[in-house]
Amino acid sequence: MTHVDERTARRVAEEARETAWRLPSFGKQLFLGDFRLDLIHPHPEAEKKMRRTGEDFLTQIREFCETRVDARIIERDARIPDKVIKGLKELGAFGMKIPEEYGGLGLSQLYYNRALMLLGTVHPALGAMLSAHQSIGVPQPVKLFGTEEQKRTYLPRCVNEISAFLLTEPDVGSDPARLRTTAVPDGDDYILDGVKLWTTNGVVAELLVVMARVPESEGHRGGITAFVVEATAEGITVENRNTFMGLRGIENGVTRFDQVRVPAGNRIGKEGQGLKIALTTLNTGRLSLPAMCAGAAKWSTKIAREWSRVRVQWGRPIGEHEAIASKIAFIAATSYAMEAMLDLSSSLADDERGDIRIEAALAKLYASEMGYLIADDLVQIRGGRGYETAESLAARGERGVPAEQLVRDMRINRIFEGSSEIMRLLIAREAVDAHLSVAGDIIDPEADLPRKAKAVRRAGGFYAKWLPTLVTGPGQRPGAYADFGPLAKHLRYAERASRKLARSIFYAAGRWQGRLERKQGFLGRMVDIGAELFAMSAVCVRAKADDRPEAYELADAFCEQARIRVGELFDRLWHNTDDLDAELAKRVMDGRYAWQEEGVLDPSIPGPWIAPAEPGPSERENVHRTVG
Ligand SMILES: Cc1cc2nc3c(=O)[nH]c(=O)nc-3n(C[C@H](O)[C@H](O)[C@H](O)COP(=O)(O)OP(=O)(O)OC[C@H]3O[C@@H](n4cnc5c(N)ncnc54)[C@H](O)[C@@H]3O)c2cc1C
Repeated sequence: MTHVDERTARRVAEEARETAWRLPSFGKQLFLGDFRLDLIHPHPEAEKKMRRTGEDFLTQIREFCETRVDARIIERDARIPDKVIKGLKELGAFGMKIPEEYGGLGLSQLYYNRALMLLGTVHPALGAMLSAHQSIGVPQPVKLFGTEEQKRTYLPRCVNEISAFLLTEPDVGSDPARLRTTAVPDGDDYILDGVKLWTTNGVVAELLVVMARVPESEGHRGGITAFVVEATAEGITVENRNTFMGLRGIENGVTRFDQVRVPAGNRIGKEGQGLKIALTTLNTGRLSLPAMCAGAAKWSTKIAREWSRVRVQWGRPIGEHEAIASKIAFIAATSYAMEAMLDLSSSLADDERGDIRIEAALAKLYASEMGYLIADDLVQIRGGRGYETAESLAARGERGVPAEQLVRDMRINRIFEGSSEIMRLLIAREAVDAHLSVAGDIIDPEADLPRKAKAVRRAGGFYAKWLPTLVTGPGQRPGAYADFGPLAKHLRYAERASRKLARSIFYAAGRWQGRLERKQGFLGRMVDIGAELFAMSAVCVRAKADDRPEAYELADAFCEQARIRVGELFDRLWHNTDDLDAELAKRVMDGRYAWQEEGVLDPSIPGPWIAPAEPGPSERENVHRTVG
């Protein structure tokens, strides 16, 4: 197994990071205690022509789904029927994000995400297929980084052909530095060798984006590089179709490359640019998941409303029992906020007025975490029916509400396209960047003393100017944000909390210095506070744009709920068991408490009467049939 130390892993991630900020960013300023509401308010509006095109397309998609797609069949057969794929192609759904000049629909980010939201509620496998193809598959990196010739070759094909994005390998998940697939230069070609895991669409795709490592050699700077590869190329085999807890119907595989010859003309960008391309693609591509989560939340609100009115227990509709009422309130308010974050981030991306890197990442993190809580609450509201499959409910004559399916389908959102833990680190890295860029050498373990001393002087100058800005702000003026009416108080709170957050980061940097980057508990809570403040800001801006009393009510309820969560998170920045937990986890891993696991069997290790399955390479030394 390749050994990659932590420093190398960080360096690879750092090199792929986009460091320049060409446009202002609400999210970045938020973590600096600079609450720039003007960057997101008034809510950007879709351009008139795009609105017409987008709405027409949504109408067609809705009609198609209502008349030609049976989600129960996708769930039952774990397959999207060919006629559904064909129908979606005819509607142009595979080319939503492809510019019109290359034969696509050229939809804006806003309408692309609305279409995914709609399709994802029919069955999330449809959303996953289209988003794996367009948000991360061939069209987006080619559009952003391809040559004109590559665009002319591949984009028109992608309107009708399915593509996939292949980065993950058995030993490469969150940490791309371990990437082992190689692309060895050979004349005008590259020869690809390696195995890619969990390739969404990989089983049926016609075109692949493959991330492979080019070795450094004369004339080749080498590094992780992106290639467009024909799925039918000699030497490619799909070895398995993977099945999962949810997302039944996705064509996800294991793809092996054995001496696959790829022309140099298929390389996207330069050698060594692969990860940067992947990350840049994800800047807006990441919004697909919040789109599907927002759709799921809207549907959950509908089901929660309908069921809690008609289900009567203990003399009242269950929605009138306080314990269930609080779940309904959480689902409804959070659903509105999730859509507000999504639409705002998408619209900001469309009118190119700001850099939405942080907003999109916050939306992905927040929507996948909250979406899962919502799905779980929906199951609880439905009681036993929440746990029963839609098929079984229908078989005994009840409405087939797939609540348990929602939990299964939503769980993956916290893992793929950046797991929640990695998203928190990624956002924290950007959030503390202002500190690091002035104080970098102070906390860099490799910097020598003169460099550190210079950094202290530079940082002193920066903080002398910056700290006083964190003491007061509009949030302390009773009349601030008055045009938001009853929501003004929440924006004042968000402004104050943004300064408090920045002060907390400053204290933490002083307290832990270079060790701050290892304080994942602190960094994670800090990011979660930022996510809540962004959600509060987005929902207030949205309610003002929607301009109806019901919108203000929902936004107000959401902000009240969010403020309680923010208060708890601030408290836990300093009062927590993080250090104790880290020590305990170490002892658990060392086996100190293995005796406590006695009395159970491990079903993942078959008994002697069953032919043993070969354990995976990383597990081979570490498995014992009887626990304890
Ligand atoms: C259904 C499905 C579809 C997928 N589709 C694709 C696809 O189309 N293309 C593709 O390339 N990949 C795809 N993936 C892979 C997916 O992106 C990875 O699963 C994801 O990147 C996480 O990697 P991992 O599973 O190896 O987890 P690991 O990286 O092994 O992480 C395990 C756990 O440790 C945490 N962790 C890891 N590093 C750190 C750290 N530094 N600090 C704190 N916590 C950490 C993670 O958050 C996670 O909780 C798919 C996966 C699934 C299940």
